[in-house]
Amino acid sequence: MEGARRKHFRKKNARLYQYVGPERLRLAVAGCPIGVRIASLGEIENWMSSLEREPNAAGLMPASFVVDLNGHMRVADSNSEHIAVAGGMPVLAAGKIFFGTGDRSLEVVEITNQATGFCPEPKSWEAVAKAIEKVPLSHPGKFTSEYVYRRCESCGELNVVKGNLFICDFCNASLPKVWNCSRPPKLD
Ligand SMILES: [Zn+2]
Repeated sequence: MEGARRKHFRKKNARLYQYVGPERLRLAVAGCPIGVRIASLGEIENWMSSLEREPNAAGLMPASFVVDLNGHMRVADSNSEHIAVAGGMPVLAAGKIFFGTGDRSLEVVEITNQATGFCPEPKSWEAVAKAIEKVPLSHPGKFTSEYVYRRCESCGELNVVKGNLFICDFCNASLPKVWNCSRPPKLD
């Protein structure tokens, strides 16, 4: 089943990201509602009007987002875990998004692939851009902050690579140059 799904999405050249975060967190948010789909301007306006949160000091509305298996963006309060926003499913992309609101036009002002539960690669931008353009909203053309994730093959921990230094934060082993976060940790 999983193999068939994977093949289907590979055809479109997008990587499918499975949840790689802690099992206890996945279980803890299993009852949370799935993120709201925003595939049209009407859907995003409905979602915005339902929010109790005020925009931040810069007039931006932050949210957690995923791009679901149908290529649609789903959003939830910025404190939400990405696995909850995804309804427990794999994703094409995930991160944080900041919408312009109020005096600013409704557009995507900032966006990142910051989502340690899925560790999506910077190249997941392609799926993000397609989802945003479907709405359609204007966007910055790339992640405004890019995160690079690797799993340490010595200690098994997930790392955010800092400053192009491919060294494990936990055990100082070298981290691989190629994305490997979906692999189960190899432990002695
Ligand atoms: Zn390590």
